[in-house]
Amino acid sequence: MEIKNPSNRFQETTPALTPPYDSNIPLTVLVSSRAVIYDEENNLVVSPATLTLSPHTGTIISILPTVLPASSFPANTQYIDHTPHLLLPGLVDAHVHLNEPGRTEWEGFNTGTRAAASGGVTTVIDMPLNAIPPTTTLNGLKEKVKAAEGQCWVDVGFYGGIIPGNSHELLPLVEAGVRGFKGFLIESGVSDRIHSDVQTYDLLTLFQVDEFPAVSSSDVALAMKTLSSTPTTLMFHAEMIPPITASVGDDVQTSLPPLSPSGPLTSYSTFLSSRPPAFETYAIEEILSLSPLAPELQLHIVHLSAVEAIPLLRAARERGVKITAETCFHYLALASEEVSDGDTRHKCCPPIRSSSNRDGLWSELAQPDSVLQTIVSDHSPCTPELKLLPDTCCGSAEVKISDKMKGVNGEILSKEEAEEKEKGDFFASWGGISSVGLGLPILWTSSTSRSSPLSITDVVRLCAVNTAKQVGLSHKKGALRPGMDADVCVFDDDAEWIVGREQMLFRNKVSPYQGRTMRGVVRQTWVRGQKVFEREGANGGFVGKGGLPVGKLLLERRKI
Ligand SMILES: [Zn+2]
Ligand SMILES: [Zn+2]
Repeated sequence: MEIKNPSNRFQETTPALTPPYDSNIPLTVLVSSRAVIYDEENNLVVSPATLTLSPHTGTIISILPTVLPASSFPANTQYIDHTPHLLLPGLVDAHVHLNEPGRTEWEGFNTGTRAAASGGVTTVIDMPLNAIPPTTTLNGLKEKVKAAEGQCWVDVGFYGGIIPGNSHELLPLVEAGVRGFKGFLIESGVSDRIHSDVQTYDLLTLFQVDEFPAVSSSDVALAMKTLSSTPTTLMFHAEMIPPITASVGDDVQTSLPPLSPSGPLTSYSTFLSSRPPAFETYAIEEILSLSPLAPELQLHIVHLSAVEAIPLLRAARERGVKITAETCFHYLALASEEVSDGDTRHKCCPPIRSSSNRDGLWSELAQPDSVLQTIVSDHSPCTPELKLLPDTCCGSAEVKISDKMKGVNGEILSKEEAEEKEKGDFFASWGGISSVGLGLPILWTSSTSRSSPLSITDVVRLCAVNTAKQVGLSHKKGALRPGMDADVCVFDDDAEWIVGREQMLFRNKVSPYQGRTMRGVVRQTWVRGQKVFEREGANGGFVGKGGLPVGKLLLERRKI
């Protein structure tokens, strides 16, 4: 005799999509007239949807491309209709500097991941530099993990770093679960030459911390060979000072770069011209020339700014080189012409370039096989004093500067050294832009103001699907699919708001977006089936389990 399992009753008609009517565990059901899900041909589409989540397993149980009424579910179901707001997969921000341990006054796991959660970001991947120790050794990763535990409001993964002499650490770091590696690329020895230059405008040490030196081509070659058959992503900060051709004779000499600033140090154009697009193209050519050493290894250019780099990458991809690039919210939203004198909140490396460069990045994003596969924040904060913001600029009067000014590496500066650092000096200011958790509104605001805006499915592809893929997490993050983590962002794509201090939840409230009007606001953020953030909710919006952080550390070894 056949025993009828009640849960089979519905499976005869709609096998994959049947909500589990017989479940004893209370379910959570999120519905909306608009969600970004997949259609039957596996295309991302905006569709009505009913998402059934298990708070128990933290995964998505089923997705129906229609809005079922609450009466379709058991009485103990938590049923929320978000119509007309969009249900999106939680964003995966694959480039964030959380700086803990060691520079926790710059950022930290707690504050950085709160900011992420408030902006619908449910996974962040922490960069290996700016924490002390950096994540360049297995021990460094262990220190990170210890510092992060119990502090994270969203899920957090880690990158490792490549520095000279740490190639023996790379495979152990892979085993321990790093999601990829980053190296700084700049010709070895240049630093010393710049130091001896009378102008003393030291390009390297202004944006680079002591414990994370740049790699030479031979270090890169060694890293490529070490990782050649490993599922990981090898990423580069692609700026390098190109050699300058001598004006006489056939000699090509490696000369001092054109780095003596010509113009006031507080004017953005002086800074911009000190870091021309050639820095990026030269570095990318160097990486491409080494790429045959590891043809199977996924390579990636972080924070691409110069459009001149795009044709190089396109040609390389066409001949089969496994290389992708990311750009950042700030290169798409901001432009050099709009940066006021002394407004060092805009300083980052590579720099924010002209509005025509920005147009070029947008048109590349619209290409069917864009080399720009992902958009990330590169959230890289520091203390306000290291930004050297002028008193007159951008509400910086609210910023408390301590008497004892510290340098980038924590050293207390003498009175003379501190005074030498003129406020508003783009060269002496720390390079890095704060924006974690603001990315979705930044992108949506900029995009919808353009003549051919990105669709919301493009945004999901660039900021969730592909960023998850970049870090080997596409089996559980970055998409709304049955079986995947129930990470959901509820996005009100029409609301307008102004970025004030209260909306910047990262530790130091210094960001070029302060005071800007944004289109689109995140209403709720769910991490693995738990609501962690609700705008205007209790406890500053952090409504999760007893007000405690529920984020997990993502340390499973990469398989893809
Ligand atoms: Zn970088
Ligand atoms: Zn970065």
